[in-house]
Amino acid sequence: MKVEAVRGMTDILPEETSLWQYVEAEIREAVALYGYREIRTPIVERAELFARGVGETTDIVHKEMYVFPDKKGQLLALRPEATASVVRAYIEHGLYARGGVAKLYYLGPMFRYEKPQKGRKRQFHQYGVEALGSLDPALDAEVIDLAWYLMERLGLRREGLFLRLNSIGCPRDRPRYREALREYFLPHREGLCTDCQRRLDENPLRILDCNGHTCQEIARDAPRSLDYLCEGCRAHFDELLGYLDALGLAYEKDPKLVRGLDYYTRTVFELASRDLGAQDALLGGGRYDGLAEALGGPPTPGVGFAGGMERLILVLGEREPGERCYRLISGPRAYLLPVAEEEKAEALKILAALRRAGISADMDYAGRSLRKRLQVAVQRGARYALFLGEEELSRGEGKVRDLETGVEEYVPVGELVPYLQGRS
Ligand SMILES: [Zn+2]
Ligand SMILES: [Zn+2]
Repeated sequence: MKVEAVRGMTDILPEETSLWQYVEAEIREAVALYGYREIRTPIVERAELFARGVGETTDIVHKEMYVFPDKKGQLLALRPEATASVVRAYIEHGLYARGGVAKLYYLGPMFRYEKPQKGRKRQFHQYGVEALGSLDPALDAEVIDLAWYLMERLGLRREGLFLRLNSIGCPRDRPRYREALREYFLPHREGLCTDCQRRLDENPLRILDCNGHTCQEIARDAPRSLDYLCEGCRAHFDELLGYLDALGLAYEKDPKLVRGLDYYTRTVFELASRDLGAQDALLGGGRYDGLAEALGGPPTPGVGFAGGMERLILVLGEREPGERCYRLISGPRAYLLPVAEEEKAEALKILAALRRAGISADMDYAGRSLRKRLQVAVQRGARYALFLGEEELSRGEGKVRDLETGVEEYVPVGELVPYLQGRS
């Protein structure tokens, strides 16, 4: 019987990985310009990290998390997101003691037991940044600017992007807002989906991001968190708007935007694309000023965002790949075609010399006819075919064919490296 991949866990094949590498490299360069350094946390964490960090009543923890006991019965989880892990590591290694704002980024696989669909897998990949250690709304603005810059750098039109923005206040504002929501939704209880009926008791904020059509209809006139902000949260939000104006970043206030994770406070945002249809968010984030404390660390404010790689790849895959991406997906520069077994040793030597000189080179090991091998060279996108026949080699030469122009030249074997380096 054939063994297949687990449902929702996808292989990323060589013709796709070049685009992935390109996007990952762009992300790394972009965030480095803003002062972020990479952190790599384990994929497996204690399940309680996410129960305490993300929130027990969230869909992510309640329904979608992979939880399993290890051999000693300790409950572990495959990470469903990375912010809780990053903050755990920040506390565990005392990064707060270094002073200033800690700017950290990550890239990697996450796991959620969801219904697999286009652009949404059970193993999926996220990139994200976390800035820990400041309450300054200018930092919120910088994080949002980074998100925006990243998308533009990847080639998305600035006019095609838009920012949804909200403030959900601090824990002091939350009880009043939650009460107002409960009061509003209670008369509509029967109309809500079964999940939202549970949410009404546990955390009515979650009803606002239910995808159900009826729930959305009912929620349309629900109280807005912006009307329940304390003075400090109001000032924070107003200052942030001022900075966004100064940066020339347009936003739409969205009272329904609450994000699916309990740790958010104050600022929440999504950067979305007008070219994407209903599920238009490219990345989302916000502030989580209580998270470090909830995980047993010193009170530390934080702000960040996370985006899905699969969605980004889907969007970018539909457009012209950039110059750097093209370089990554282009084939070997030279493709060697030894005519017979006897030339193979010489071919291996030449390949080794070319590669050590930084010239990508390859040859066919499948033992096909010369014509077939030439076809393979063209299919693989090689620029030069290098023929090593008995006759040429007896003169110490190889025949180089430019596969773009068809021009052929005999080149002494010892001069192949400078010859190929000297060409565009
Ligand atoms: Zn507040
Ligand atoms: Zn619902």
